[in-house]
Amino acid sequence: MQTKLPQQFSRSSIGQKADNILRSCVHCGFCLATCPTYQLLGDELDSPRGRIYLIKSALEDNQFSRDSLTHLDRCLTCRACETTCPSGVEYGELVDIGRTFVEHTRPLWQRVSRYSVRKLLTNPSLFNIVAPLFRQSSIQTAVTEQQLFKGRVLLLTGCVQPALAPNINHATKNVLATLGFEVVETAQKECCGAVDQHTSAPNDALIKIKQNIDQWSAHFESGIDVIISTASGCGLMVKDYVKLFEPDDAYYQKAVQVSEKTKDIAEFLLDKDLSALPVAKTKITFQAPCSLQHGQKLPGLVEGLLTKLGYELRPVTDAHLCCGSAGTYSLFQPAISTQLRTNKLQHLTQSEPDVIVTANIGCQMHLSKGTKTPIKHWIELLDDAL
Ligand code: SF4
Ligand code: SF4
Repeated sequence: MQTKLPQQFSRSSIGQKADNILRSCVHCGFCLATCPTYQLLGDELDSPRGRIYLIKSALEDNQFSRDSLTHLDRCLTCRACETTCPSGVEYGELVDIGRTFVEHTRPLWQRVSRYSVRKLLTNPSLFNIVAPLFRQSSIQTAVTEQQLFKGRVLLLTGCVQPALAPNINHATKNVLATLGFEVVETAQKECCGAVDQHTSAPNDALIKIKQNIDQWSAHFESGIDVIISTASGCGLMVKDYVKLFEPDDAYYQKAVQVSEKTKDIAEFLLDKDLSALPVAKTKITFQAPCSLQHGQKLPGLVEGLLTKLGYELRPVTDAHLCCGSAGTYSLFQPAISTQLRTNKLQHLTQSEPDVIVTANIGCQMHLSKGTKTPIKHWIELLDDAL
């Protein structure tokens, strides 16, 4: 795609990045077939290619209407289009740049409501007041004791997950202890930055990100060289920290280290000896979070692990499509989000599983509002079987 970004903008690092991404799109339209909003709404402007054009004209000519903003807002940032795109267009980065650029066109009432939600979700002291109303699970198993460890890992506890589903981190610690790994937990006071970053507040995100990088990288000096994430949305954000700093930034090298050392729990277990874990026969379906399959580019990883452990994993139609949770999306786009959830649950429950498992707290909370079938993080299944 040819571009004519204003000279001053295209000389900035953000401008260069946007220009490179825009130029990599060859308008082929393959991405339309896997875009959930295009499938539901049938409008080219609600497709990846259409949104790329909208962002291009905003960056080139400052041409952007309220309607254009609506089309960008309807994007789930699920990144299914990245998985499909044969030209490697980094749509996720482009849409973040585009959204920040056009944020000033947003009506005041929307800015106020988005600001309030953002502050509530990223301030643990505030969030912990309301969290009991939405709690998904409490701790369900005893602590697994282990005397001898062969390694130590740092666990990202998350900011909302401990309040909403404390059993996920508990189960992770039990499974890791069973496999001989000692867990050090982050005293994470701040959100990973994802909420700010994806609601057009990159400066607020950067403050949190720098605090996290300082805090977590201090553990590397004590020999810890793996950071484990159990929420794929947070894991993706941390893996992307490196993209937010220029090579001459004082934080760049530390960001590289933090991003490279961060692993989803499934990624960490992939090459480990799992023979200490009992074989279980539960009939399950897996909801593959977009942040895991499209963002972290780890499709099929959890499915392979669970099959290896003996779980009866049933196939899910259209597993590549978003469930409609997508961070704060379900709050701001309830109609599309609910439709996507209905479709997803239909596919997840088709084979009548005993349990639906997922790998992200946001998806778990969103899906559980639409079904009576129990929904857990898959690591909880492993702990239940110990
Ligand atoms: S598939 Fe990739 S190259 Fe083709 S239109 Fe979509 S984003 Fe552009
Ligand atoms: S991120 Fe998802 S919703 Fe947005 S354009 Fe890409 S496929 Fe469509």
